[in-house]
Amino acid sequence: MSLKISIKGTLWVVATPIGNLADLSPRAREVLAEAPILAAEDTRTSQKLVAIRQTPPRWVSLHEHNEESVVKRLIGLLGQGHDVALLCDAGTPLISDPGYRLIAAAHEVGIRVSPVPGPCAAIAALSAAGLATDRFFFEGFLPARTSARRRRLESLKQQAATLVFYVPARKLPKALADAAAAIGTDRLATVARELTKQFETIRRASLGELADWTAGDPDQQRGEAVLLISGAPGAEPKPILIDALARELAAELPPARAARVLSRVSELDRREAFALVEALNRKNS
Ligand code: SAM
Repeated sequence: MSLKISIKGTLWVVATPIGNLADLSPRAREVLAEAPILAAEDTRTSQKLVAIRQTPPRWVSLHEHNEESVVKRLIGLLGQGHDVALLCDAGTPLISDPGYRLIAAAHEVGIRVSPVPGPCAAIAALSAAGLATDRFFFEGFLPARTSARRRRLESLKQQAATLVFYVPARKLPKALADAAAAIGTDRLATVARELTKQFETIRRASLGELADWTAGDPDQQRGEAVLLISGAPGAEPKPILIDALARELAAELPPARAARVLSRVSELDRREAFALVEALNRKNS
């Protein structure tokens, strides 16, 4: 009887620079220098990252339109023991870039997936935007059609977390004008354009001001940008208000009803609301 041991390859998910090539981490450089197979959206764009390799890698092009068949091929190669490094044109794969199906398929067949973290435009922009970062809502690209874009922005008006959008800079004036109309001209926002590049520009102002500024200066419409919009002010009831409301409800209603009402108007679930009402009742008895 022959015993066959199968050793599968590793799928490396490699972040690459979003502008400044010096941001390629030593570990990313190492994986890109050694992985026998590199999967990238546009293999020509990624060539420069592996210029130092002694043996050229086998390139596999993975994009939205061929994902299904290429995923099967890559999973086959990983299953035969070959390492694969997934990269995108710039930044972190899967963040508004292809790769999700490949990673999901790898998990399903027990292939090791390991990230090599690094640049990501959304995270770089958040770190320098001067807006709250305790919670953020990554929306990625807005719809191209005006009506759909406005509806999407409208639906995010009450979102309490900082909103993060990817916007090609040429579309900034329209996106900002629509955001100002849907969310409010006074809402604080930041445009982070050409991050890590020569003409890096980060400006924090109201949506109305940013809309006028980008519309009036063609230089602000060049390159790539992240638009961040601060969350809706007072969108969440403050804990102190929940306590006050719970006290009133506990005094006026039987515990189960008080808890039901409280869980409807707050983020507490029924059990948490009931526990709070009970605690208040005990305190008052
Ligand atoms: N996966 C990438 C990442 O990790 O950031 C994002 C890819 S997405 C296809 C491209 C978008 O990212 C651009 O349209 C722009 O909104 C944003 N972006 C990429 N590089 C940027 C940069 N240097 N400065 C500002 N935004 C950038």
